[in-house]
Amino acid sequence: MNTQLNQGGIYTTFSGESFEVINPATATPFAVLNSSSAAEIDHTVNQAVEAFATWKQVTDTEIYALFSAIAADIRSQKAEIASLITQEQGKPLFLAEVEVELGAGWIEHLRDTEIPVEQYEEANGKVIRIYNKPIGVVASITPWNWPFMIAIWHLFPALKTKNCVINKPSEYTPLSTIKLIEIINHHLPAGVCSIVLGKGDTGAHLTAHPAIGKVAFTGSTRTGQAILKNSVDSLKSVVLELGGNDAAIVLEDADLDYVAEKIFGSAFLNMGQTCTAIKRLYVHEDIYDALVEKLLAMAQAQVIGSGLDSATTFGPVQNAIQYQKVKALIDDAITQGASVLTAKMEVPEHGYFIAPTIIGDLPAGTALIDQEQFGPVLPIIRFNDIQSVIAEANRSEFGLGGSVWSADIAKAEAVAQQLETGTVWINRHAEMSPNAAFCGWKMSGLGHAFGLSGLLQFTKKQAIHINP
Ligand code: NDP
Repeated sequence: MNTQLNQGGIYTTFSGESFEVINPATATPFAVLNSSSAAEIDHTVNQAVEAFATWKQVTDTEIYALFSAIAADIRSQKAEIASLITQEQGKPLFLAEVEVELGAGWIEHLRDTEIPVEQYEEANGKVIRIYNKPIGVVASITPWNWPFMIAIWHLFPALKTKNCVINKPSEYTPLSTIKLIEIINHHLPAGVCSIVLGKGDTGAHLTAHPAIGKVAFTGSTRTGQAILKNSVDSLKSVVLELGGNDAAIVLEDADLDYVAEKIFGSAFLNMGQTCTAIKRLYVHEDIYDALVEKLLAMAQAQVIGSGLDSATTFGPVQNAIQYQKVKALIDDAITQGASVLTAKMEVPEHGYFIAPTIIGDLPAGTALIDQEQFGPVLPIIRFNDIQSVIAEANRSEFGLGGSVWSADIAKAEAVAQQLETGTVWINRHAEMSPNAAFCGWKMSGLGHAFGLSGLLQFTKKQAIHINP
């Protein structure tokens, strides 16, 4: 049977190969969808091209009203959306609700942002006005870790700047995005914001289409590179938010209780499946034992189980491949001589559960330190020389985020300035703001998102020279 989506009164049929959506808490399928065939993807792009002719003339006032109505609809359906996120992604319900709430707030922030027009007056009386114009049709490829929120991070900057946009959600977590696009389409004209589904080559077919003017991608570096290669022939603009291997550096004067709670929260956020989660923790030797003890107590206090259970604080890893990858990294670290510091915890028999795992005594060069583990495991490394630890943090091929923890802000900021990452937090980590440009250095990305400059990445410049 084909998949039929009601996108707010617009019916879309997908007839390609079917795929299952698995609940990671049970490792069993709970939905079956069809992929979009090549012809159905082309049709969706053609509809978007047609819709762009009108949508590019939408006024800022109309966008304000539309974004307000969409955010309100999202809030009013928070429980239903959060339940879908938990079932397909695995995170506990309370965190899924946070994801929905953050998404609605993000839409309102974009709603309130003004797109500027630059103006210069030159000596001969000439006036130059520089406008930020929409690019056309944007393709968005979103991942499975924060499926609802990252879809909002892609779709709404595109819409705000008067582009049309087509999303391809991860095949692991398409349902909450389908719901989002259904809500959006209760308000927007047909073809302005659509979805295609699939696994295998849907993303490549969509992003390589010559009528796509820009691709927004969040996911692995390898796939980001493939998208960049495919964008050459039609000179597409590309923004890539890729992996990270964020280091947190805790100086000897940090407030231990505060640091332990915040560090645990941002290392194991979403079971560690967050591009800006803390992935390596460097702790000054004077406070190493005391901090480890506090982190172990927090790990041990987690209630592991299905996210739908209200007592659960710690859900499963999202998919079988990720589960195997994280397990293999833990096993490799143990083989290399590292110690698992957390005591063994019971996990449910079925589903992709890995208990929060803290690992110490890691030999240099361990894959768990050098690679992005993207799961509920945290390597902790002792240090006594700040310059060597800065060098070690910077040795990574990634450059997404990092953090410094200290009671002395000036000292922390001096360390922060030396980290080779697009974002550095002081006394926090993984805290996103719609005001701050979010930029991956090195293999962590290309271009950037958020802030006015991130929003303007969805536009092209037009300079009009006016001579009196
Ligand atoms: P990927 O990052 O590799 O992305 C898979 C998505 O990209 C699918 O939707 C896929 O669709 C699409 N895709 C694949 N090839 C292309 C292409 N050539 N052009 C356009 N789209 C394409 O995700 P994985 O799930 O495989 O995760 C692998 C690793 O990525 C994880 O282990 C983790 O380390 C990292 N990751 C990072 C995230 C982040 O937030 N930075 C989020 C999630 C994962 P299709 O199958 O139809 O082609």
